[in-house]
Amino acid sequence: MVIRLGSFEGGREVLSEERKSFSDLNPATGEVLAEVEEATKEDVDRVVKIAQGGFKRWSKIPVAQRSALIHRLADYLESRSEELAEMETRDTGKPLTLSKSLDIPRSIFNFRFFADYAKTLGTEAFQSDDQAINYALRRPVGVAGLISPWNLPLLLLTWKVAPAIAAGNSCVIKPAELTPLTAYELARAAQEVGLPEGVINVVNGFGPQSAGEFLVAHPNVDLISLTGETSTGKAVMANAASTLKRVSFELGGKNPLIVFADCDFDEMIETTVRSSFVNQGEVCLCGSRVYVEEPIFDKFVDAIKARAEALVVGDPFDPKTQMGALISKEHKERVAGFVERAVVDGAKVVTGGGTPRTLTKGNFFEPTIIVDVKSGCEIVTEEVFGPVITVEPFRSEEEVIAKANDTRYGLAATFWTSNLRRAHRMAAQLEAGVIWINTWFYRDLRTPFGGMKQSGIGREGGVHSFEFYTELSNVCIKL
Ligand code: NAD
Repeated sequence: MVIRLGSFEGGREVLSEERKSFSDLNPATGEVLAEVEEATKEDVDRVVKIAQGGFKRWSKIPVAQRSALIHRLADYLESRSEELAEMETRDTGKPLTLSKSLDIPRSIFNFRFFADYAKTLGTEAFQSDDQAINYALRRPVGVAGLISPWNLPLLLLTWKVAPAIAAGNSCVIKPAELTPLTAYELARAAQEVGLPEGVINVVNGFGPQSAGEFLVAHPNVDLISLTGETSTGKAVMANAASTLKRVSFELGGKNPLIVFADCDFDEMIETTVRSSFVNQGEVCLCGSRVYVEEPIFDKFVDAIKARAEALVVGDPFDPKTQMGALISKEHKERVAGFVERAVVDGAKVVTGGGTPRTLTKGNFFEPTIIVDVKSGCEIVTEEVFGPVITVEPFRSEEEVIAKANDTRYGLAATFWTSNLRRAHRMAAQLEAGVIWINTWFYRDLRTPFGGMKQSGIGREGGVHSFEFYTELSNVCIKL
């Protein structure tokens, strides 16, 4: 059944046959899941006004009560986690096992984590000799515009919504046009558990000259948190400038993954298969540029090739499936284009590079490993955002650090070694906001998360999220 999605505003769904609409497709089957109404500028104006009302009500509620309501929301989402996981899988094409083990439980945990953290937030105080005492007052900012991508739709959205509302803000969400289902369900759930009207609102549509842009430019939207491509960050920053609103950006990456010969090889291979191909390689943190110390280069390529070829690609609802479909036909063509041009540039495809033989329907693409890449060629410099890695040998620490940092991105870097002194040396020299040593994707939500260089602005996680979603006023009292 094709459902219709409009906007969710003031605690209710608003549908209008007069709005233009677009189709939301299942990437694995091409089936139409929903007809989605594109919000107009007038729609966004109305929803922002409603969110301003929501902010007035919500920000006055004591933090312990807000926290309890957010926990109630988490409980409710948990009671519906099977259904939400299936919805996320239909919308994204990712394996159901992943939606069940990662997307939905982590989304729920985001709410619990920030609801608890909000209750512990403090501020600073300074005594200025015998002249004055200063203390800081913390308060929510207002209406938060939250713009999310399609790869981990609910997980990355709740990473924004949870701290925003725990701090007392209201929000207007603009989910990715390719994956609007779970954001809408979240707004419905908030209503169901009794969050005040207008605290969580949703508008649907695209970015430029559509709902995304209208939200960013809106004078009564007080902040924008965006996760998306680096080029989108640039457009949003320019558009936000006229109202000088604060921005937090989690953007693209081209993350290095470095393997030293002294690492625990089996553990490294196990994790590297995941860091290369999980979620079809559509994770901003995936290690797409792999550098392997020369003595174990051939051993590494043989092992990762065998593991990639053993991955089960196919029906996302089959429990044996390890890789599902790419998000759209256009994205699959984009990924295939990168591989084709790399080959023209002289690179060699060790495995993969095309559509799996038995999967001609849906946007499936094989796990792909590429070697013999020329330095500076496109496949090494541009974000592919698919199940494609390049593997290059290196001889020294200095050489690999220079290669790893030779990028305009700086999101994540991973390396594998058993040499403790080298580990600290490397960590201090790699230009990335997130550094993993002998692990990948391990996250403690209290830690700062975000990118250097063109991978983002600001940090999220723990107190860093609250620094963004709150304002501080210093109060100075003369003694
Ligand atoms: P995208 O930039 O195309 O879209 C992201 C969101 O921004 C969507 O909701 C889109 O409609 C909206 N948007 C696009 N242009 C806009 C504009 N001009 N004004 C306002 N909104 C606009 O990104 P995507 O294709 O959905 O996601 C993939 C990208 O996201 C990759 O580059 C990936 O690395 C990045 N990403 C980063 C992180 C991180 O934490 N750093 C996490 C996940 C994804």
